[in-house]
Amino acid sequence: PPWRVEQLLENTKNRYPDNPAIYFYGKQWTYDQLWQDARRFARALQDRGIKVGERVALMLPNCPQFVIAYYGTLMAGGIVTQINPLLVPRELEALLVDSQSSAIIAFDGVLDKVAAVRANTSLRMVIGVSLTGSAAMDGVEDFSQVLTQVTGEPAPIDGSNQDVAALQYTGGTTGRSKGAMLTHRNLVSNVLQNYYISDQGMTVGEEVMLTVLPLFHVYGMTVCMNLGIYLGAKLVMLPRFDIKDVLTAIKEHGVTMFPGVPTMYVALLQAADVEAYDVSSVRICNSGSAPMPVELMARFESRTGAVILEGYGLSEASPVTHSTPLWGKRKPGTVGIALPSTECRVVDPESGRDVAPGELGELWIRGPQVMQGYWNRPTETAETLTADGWLRTGDVASYDEEGYVAIMDRLKDLIIASGYNVYPREVEEVLYQHPDVVEAVVVGAPDAYRGETVRAVVVPRKDSGLTVEALTQYLNANLAAYKRPKIIEFREQLPKSAVGKILRRVVRDEI
Ligand code: ATP
Repeated sequence: PPWRVEQLLENTKNRYPDNPAIYFYGKQWTYDQLWQDARRFARALQDRGIKVGERVALMLPNCPQFVIAYYGTLMAGGIVTQINPLLVPRELEALLVDSQSSAIIAFDGVLDKVAAVRANTSLRMVIGVSLTGSAAMDGVEDFSQVLTQVTGEPAPIDGSNQDVAALQYTGGTTGRSKGAMLTHRNLVSNVLQNYYISDQGMTVGEEVMLTVLPLFHVYGMTVCMNLGIYLGAKLVMLPRFDIKDVLTAIKEHGVTMFPGVPTMYVALLQAADVEAYDVSSVRICNSGSAPMPVELMARFESRTGAVILEGYGLSEASPVTHSTPLWGKRKPGTVGIALPSTECRVVDPESGRDVAPGELGELWIRGPQVMQGYWNRPTETAETLTADGWLRTGDVASYDEEGYVAIMDRLKDLIIASGYNVYPREVEEVLYQHPDVVEAVVVGAPDAYRGETVRAVVVPRKDSGLTVEALTQYLNANLAAYKRPKIIEFREQLPKSAVGKILRRVVRDEI
């Protein structure tokens, strides 16, 4: 029968019971131990009355308990509601109410936020995980006690791979959060698609996966956790991105796969002593979630010897739809080709017709990884999914004769200055080519005369002495007048999302 997500773990447990599954601050779980713990957690949820289809929220940083609670929830037939621990009480309440979650598994650092909103939600139970301090609190059960007190096996559930496995709330780079309903079939498909596009470049039973992308984000969930478990990899978990910790983990564990986001690779590149660390074990760096500036990719590869494979995806597609093939042709500046079993179109949003190669249009996707819709939001679902199953991504893209797709920008990020379309991505690429620019983001700013004008916020390299005048001259030489930022600001850092994506909206809303 078609697989459900928990069978990824079951199969690996059967093949490699004694292989290391998780490494976390000196502690290790084998696949058999992970499986046993997840089963215990499933039974504990059932003992507490959780039924098939009920929502169980996770509000945890990367830690073994995340994986145990996630797989345990699925084994019990529950739906995982993914929650970013950085949310403030108002946002947390909105997600708990929207998802109608019955239980939450939260770590000690956020239990006060849960307590603050609990009365306004449908939560029947709170299970606390002690990570940094103690989760002992009135009305909160302790995760490790819950596990040790379990007796008996979980009851078999009547579930299929068409059931929803996770509510993946869109990160909210834009607008209000909507829960993308990802089924077991969606998630398992995306794991297999990522595996098959590597064309045997990933070795089952032998990979070591750096798990620093947050697992509550769809990218970390699929590419680090679920793919890692399918591969029988050792997940070396880090709860936050710290350059020293990352370099040390790579060296100590011989990390072979390092899925990340561009800002992580940029940070590594900036680390003064990156050459002092041996990162030669890393074979595959998948970069996704935001554009990887071509210039930085080249610099990173020549300094570290690791290869960056850029991919593309979104919460609504579990998330990966495109990736640069490991062995095939690489085309920096593109996100590669469609994954196996994935169809893609580039459509003129006005006429609904497919555009020719090289022309810009909206990227549409169809495949087994595309969500069922947004939880309880039929109107938004109908705006996003067409009747014949196409997902409208909202991203502007083009494709070439060989099927390589280049992502330009989001439709809503397009800047219209004096009637000209300015793609922030293009201006950012030019900025990143400047040797003294570390990070940059380009947004539209309201302008009485031009409608919108181009504004760049730049992080210059420390002690480089770069001035706004010098940068302006450089841009004048490299960009047509209408694309040139009229406002340039220097900063020490840019606002980032939990996954490390530069928050364009936050920068845009400053003015
Ligand atoms: P929201 O959907 O609410 O804006 P979010 O940004 O967190 O929140 P995700 O589903 O995590 O949503 O991100 C998907 C988006 O990230 C894509 O639609 C696309 O705009 C962008 N993206 C992902 N990969 C790439 C890439 N390689 N190059 C450029 N953009 C990318």
